[in-house]
Amino acid sequence: MSDRAIKAAKRFVRSFGIEDARDLANFEQIVRSRGARIFDDPTLTSAIGRIVIGDRNNAVIRVADALPPPRRRFTIAHELGHFELHAKQTNLVLCSDSDVGSVISSRAIENEANVFASNVLMPHFMFKKCLGTAAPTYQALKECQRFFQVSFEAAALRALEVCREPLYLLKFVEGSLVWGRQNNEWRKHNRKTLPRGMQPGSYSALHYAGVGSSYEEVDAEEYDLSADLELKDVLLRGGEYPLVMLTLA
Ligand SMILES: [Zn+2]
Repeated sequence: MSDRAIKAAKRFVRSFGIEDARDLANFEQIVRSRGARIFDDPTLTSAIGRIVIGDRNNAVIRVADALPPPRRRFTIAHELGHFELHAKQTNLVLCSDSDVGSVISSRAIENEANVFASNVLMPHFMFKKCLGTAAPTYQALKECQRFFQVSFEAAALRALEVCREPLYLLKFVEGSLVWGRQNNEWRKHNRKTLPRGMQPGSYSALHYAGVGSSYEEVDAEEYDLSADLELKDVLLRGGEYPLVMLTLA
């Protein structure tokens, strides 16, 4: 299913001649020229995005008011995904906060729209170039986040797909593990997965992951995490395998 979304995103990127970040700077303009009108909608409360598809070249996208710019950008790309992928199935999609950008949504079309959005906003060849040969450290991912104007979480999830080094992302909300995701390189090294409910910074969690005491916790202050209102991130790294932990403020 996601292959279809990846192919559609590649087609979209090619058809608009998108080659570097400057081409993506005014992303909304690109979506408009594709035939979708975009409106802010203060009455949209149960959803953060909504699309009505008229025909193959005509749609109306509404986004909730006051979304942070990276969230707004991803939501519009997500709705564009519905436009490109699901016009034959439906002509109206309402997307909740958890549908957009979520790692796993309960609805297949939402997952496809997210894969599409991620691949359009952060094309593989561009993301690879941005990450360079650097290890996917907190700083490197932060650079990519700024470069592509997406949230830190969106950039970190994209790194999982693009990065050739073993990488394991953990997301904590209010101290509880919400999800953990690893890339294929991590799997190849037979690293174990973390069970739900592990606490951030817990050495038992690290031990369980098989990284043991070779990991050292980087001082969060060093990265001025307090300035990041959306996400607080703690990077644990050591040896040759980076482990990035994402923690919601
Ligand atoms: Zn959706």
